[in-house]
Amino acid sequence: MARPSRPVYLDCHATTPVDPLVMAAMLPFFTEHFGNPASVGHLYGWEAEAAVQRSREIIAAGLNATPTEIVFTSGATEANNLAIKGVAEAYFSQGRHIVTVATEHSAVLDPCRYLEGLGFEVTYLPVGPDGLIDVAELARSLRDDTILVSVMAANNEIGVLQPLAEIGQCCHDRGVLFHTDAAQAIGKIDLDVQAQHIDLLSCTAHKVYGPKGIGALYVRQRQPRVNLAAQLHGGGHERGRRSGTLYTPQIVGLGKALELAWANQASEQARLGAMRDRLWQALQALPGVQLNGHPTQRLAHNLNISVAGVDGQALLLGLKNVVALSSGAACSSTSTAPSHVLKAIGHTDALAYASLRFGLGRFNTPAEIDQVAQACCDTITALRSRSSIQPAVK
Ligand SMILES: *Cc1c(COP(=O)(O)O)cnc(C)c1O
Repeated sequence: MARPSRPVYLDCHATTPVDPLVMAAMLPFFTEHFGNPASVGHLYGWEAEAAVQRSREIIAAGLNATPTEIVFTSGATEANNLAIKGVAEAYFSQGRHIVTVATEHSAVLDPCRYLEGLGFEVTYLPVGPDGLIDVAELARSLRDDTILVSVMAANNEIGVLQPLAEIGQCCHDRGVLFHTDAAQAIGKIDLDVQAQHIDLLSCTAHKVYGPKGIGALYVRQRQPRVNLAAQLHGGGHERGRRSGTLYTPQIVGLGKALELAWANQASEQARLGAMRDRLWQALQALPGVQLNGHPTQRLAHNLNISVAGVDGQALLLGLKNVVALSSGAACSSTSTAPSHVLKAIGHTDALAYASLRFGLGRFNTPAEIDQVAQACCDTITALRSRSSIQPAVK
């Protein structure tokens, strides 16, 4: 009781705490089992390699893939770079056209822009007001020289879930590789690289209660076999696809984090969805508050709202002692530009600035959510009564 209370953490799209069970699984690999998985001549190497292999098997099983199709990386940023630049470099003689979406994470958009500078052509598909792409429009954008389509599984700001199976089917019908950034989706929605026709899939541990600095790229090995040009050259680790000594404790952490998330996925998503709905119900009672993104095709723990008639900065400031959240993506919160995702769904700059992204997580309780809902309502009402701007009530 004496300890000053910290704000409620509702920024789980930015990162999540490491689950104590994940931490416990990792610890022995820093000290006791510290061997290099590539040391094939002694016990220390063997036990590290066995732990890495176990993680590879867990991840592959969860995606309906095989262990040799998993490449460990430093996170989703690196996995996206490896997928996009690696495919571009391996397939440029067959074509130089790539299709992606305006609402992708910067870890997809920036590699695409980089490739444009090298002579590739990129189509950035628009999204509807609900944040979803039109698969028919995607199909029309494919050309004979299209080598890759990259569409994220779940959006990191508005939580919208793109129709992966339809997109994958459309790509495979045309013989185009399909990459998906699943950093926000893995462990939260069902992913199946066969059923959804996914050729490359990026993920990261720290959005799913694992450690920062570790992720993986799934790379399809058959029907079709994806060729990938390595982006990090060195000792030839990961079958030459990504060199560098494997970070055993982090890899163990990634495997354990996903194992836990998958084991409890259905019940946990139902719990989070109920709390999220309760929060939305409370906020919806205010005039001039609108939901961003599709109402049902979305992550269960995501709520993104725009609040008419308040200054976004003032709103975050007014809430900062009660709740930790962000107005846009964490990776762009140092920039002052309005969210490119909210702009893409048709918002004005003012409305894009005046938005809040709630990301609920494993350690949140209903009492915390009620506390946050109350604080949000109070702050919005107070700001409006002080401001000369009137809410645009719809
Ligand atoms: C967080 C995130 C990334 C970046 O992942 P890191 O592991 O932090 O590099 C990429 N894409 C999406 C959709 C994300 O949410």
